[in-house]
Parts: sequence; C-alpha cells; structure tokens
Amino acid sequence: MTKSISILGSTGSIGLSTLKIIDKKKNHFKVNILSANKNYSIILNQIKKYKPKIFIINNFETFKKIKNKLKKKKIKILNNFESHKSFMKSDLTISAIPGLAGLRPTISMIKNSKKILIANKESVICGWNIIKKAATVNNTKIIPIDSEHFSIMKILENHNINEIKKIIITASGGPFLNTKVNDLNKIKPSDALKHPRWKMGKKISIDSATLMNKIFELIEAQKLFNLPESKLEIVIHPESLVHAIVTFKNGLTKFVYHETSMIIPLANAIFDKGLNIKEFYKIKESNYLKSIFFKKVDQKIFPIIKLKKRANEYPSTPIIINAANEILVEHFLGKKIPFLSINKFILSILKDRNYKKYAIRRPKNINQIYEIDNWARKSTIKKIS
Ligand code: NDP
Repeated sequence: MTKSISILGSTGSIGLSTLKIIDKKKNHFKVNILSANKNYSIILNQIKKYKPKIFIINNFETFKKIKNKLKKKKIKILNNFESHKSFMKSDLTISAIPGLAGLRPTISMIKNSKKILIANKESVICGWNIIKKAATVNNTKIIPIDSEHFSIMKILENHNINEIKKIIITASGGPFLNTKVNDLNKIKPSDALKHPRWKMGKKISIDSATLMNKIFELIEAQKLFNLPESKLEIVIHPESLVHAIVTFKNGLTKFVYHETSMIIPLANAIFDKGLNIKEFYKIKESNYLKSIFFKKVDQKIFPIIKLKKRANEYPSTPIIINAANEILVEHFLGKKIPFLSINKFILSILKDRNYKKYAIRRPKNINQIYEIDNWARKSTIKKIS
C-alpha cells in the first residue's frame, strides 16, 4: 500500500535524508506536500522529481520566482500554510524546519497527518503543550527523530517511567572537544561548522559546537518523556555510536547503538515494522569492533552546559533561551559576534530585569509563544548592539 508523505524542510539535511529513503522505495510513497525556504534550484528539482501536489515556499522572492516559472503546471505553489484552508491528509509528515519557524507549520500538519516525525526540537521545547494538545485532538501520533530521543523512545518501549533511574544523553563534543580553553576566542564560523561526526544544517551545527544542542535535547527529553531535570544527564561520547543510555532501578542499563547516520532513526520511524536497514544504508560491520569512550563534559570548554539546571526553570525559559540563541547563532555566523559571546549573552538575558516576568508565563497558543519569543529576540539584539 502506498503511503502519502509530506516534508517540512525538504531541501535541508533531514529533508534530503528522508528523500533518499523514498528514492529507494519509489512505489511505496506518494509525495503530498513539500516545504522549504529559498533554495531555488533544489526546490525546482524536487518539484520535477517528486511531483508533490503542493510546495510551500516561505521566502517571498523565491516563492514568486517559482510560482511564475510554473504557472502553467498543475502543482499548487503557496507562500505559507495559512494561505490554504485544508490540506489533503498525509499518512506521514517529517517536521524539519529549524528554529521556532517550524512550530506553525508543524501544528498545521498535525491537523493533516496521521503521524508526525519531529526533528524540529525547537518547536518541541517551545511549544510542546500546544503540539501535544493538537496531536490529542487530531489523533496524530508524534515520534521524535532526534537520534537521542528516538533511542530513548525505543528503550522505553515496554517500560514504565517509574522504573527509570537515569537517562543519559550522549554528546560527541563537536569540533572543539579537544580545543584549548585559550583558543576558544579565536573560533571562526567555518571552524564551528566542521562537525567531526554529523553532516547537518548550519544552525544545529553551531548549537553542537557550543553544546546548546544538548541543553535543547535535555529540555526536549523532559517534555517528551515527562521527566525531571534531575533524572537526565549529558556525557561526552566522541564516537557518536551510542545515542542514549537508560539506567533502570533494577540495576540494568540499556543503550541504543547505531552508526552515525540520521537514515537509521528516520527509516525506523517511517517503517515501524519489518525494516531491513540494508535497503537504505550500508552498515560497516567493523564499527562493532571499535572501542567506545564516555567522559564528563568539561565546563571550561562548554560553559553553556551550566544552563542544565536553569534551562527549564520556568515555563517559558526554553522559549527565551531558544530565541536568544537563534539571534546569537545568526550573529555569530554573520561574523558580528565572537563564538564565546553566545554563552555570554544567553546568561545576560537570564539576568535581565524583565526575564522573570516573561519566563513565568504559560502560553496557551502560538501567538502567546511569539510574544515571549519577540521580547527575548529584541532584548538580545539590544544587548549585542
Ligand atoms: P537545514 O538547515 O539543513 O535545513 C533546513 C530546511 O528548512 C531547509 O529545507 C530550509 O529551506 C527550510 N527552512 C529554513 N527556514 C525556513 C522557514 N522559515 N520556513 C520554511 N522552511 C524553512 O536543517 P537540518 O535539516 O539540519 O535541521 C532541521 C531540524 O532538524 C532542526 O530543528 C534540527 O535541530 C533538527 N535535527 C537535525 C538533525 C540533522 O542531522 N540535521 C538531527 C536531529 C535534529 P531552504 O534550503 O530552501 O533554505
């Protein structure tokens, strides 16, 4: 039976990995909706190759150019999700737009999908209550595909949350694991984008270099599995082969080990049963002979890790940290602030006299999330300038 699939962020790293899976099983899928931002040539190629019914293009210039070029074609080109009242239902949607920008499209697709595979962690940490509510109302299944959370979910199948002693999320340590503290102030965007293990988009690559990505994953785990921060730990594991470890009160520890490719969690989430990964990814059997290491996070190299206890201290702290981080990453990539300023300005937002006033809010809808996000973005920009 063919499955209808939609992909938010189809031209990015997760989107392209998903399409690689589809390419191997062409008769199994029909593409409903694709969505991207401004990558004109990949968008055009995807329209030609996958013939989606709808392509939603966020960037207005790119939207206009493509709409014009394809005006005689049958495909619907839209500029945003709101410009269309109801979409045909998809069996499966991959949510992979980075940042809070992914939240609205994700909620739209929850209403129109049977299952959402969510990579967009920023939406989970900022809008989990709204996502969860929409999923319940629409009877939509949510599956996390961040490799750490997919692994935790797999380990916890057939376990009760009360059996857990601790969940340990692994971090490769990114490009600066062995950098001397004194050299951290010389880091350029091109250095920070060179992740030794994963090939990912720019935003998540910088978050991996600072380790903010692990702070986000910690909040994501708290939200998805309803766990207190005290039950979660982050450890460095440079090989990126073990993705999450769960220790149980009965003295047993389980972990999920797989090669460093998002194809593995994605394919497992797409085909819930009977998957033979050989069809999509060539496993290097020799990897099983590798030694694997775990070590504590060095707070001098990764000062952001000190946020662990504070990152979810008030209901809207994750929204504020995420917004400040989005601005700071953008400025760092634009060479407007040094690498170490990312941590410095995040801390300064948490010290702002208005921080608590916004952080204690419990947003009930997306607009209320955007109010808090907006405050944090503007305050961060003020602090930088
Ligand atoms: P990329 O930067 O590689 O891709 C982003 C995709 O989203 C592109 O298709 C881009 O379009 C599109 N996009 C960007 N901004 C907008 C917007 N405002 N509206 C609509 N579309 C937009 O990101 P990744 O694939 O690396 O990451 C996506 C998400 O998945 C992130 O939240 C990340 O944290 C998460 N994730 C990623 C992993 C990875 O291995 N890459 C692993 C685990 C989680 P265009 O190309 O046209 O600009």
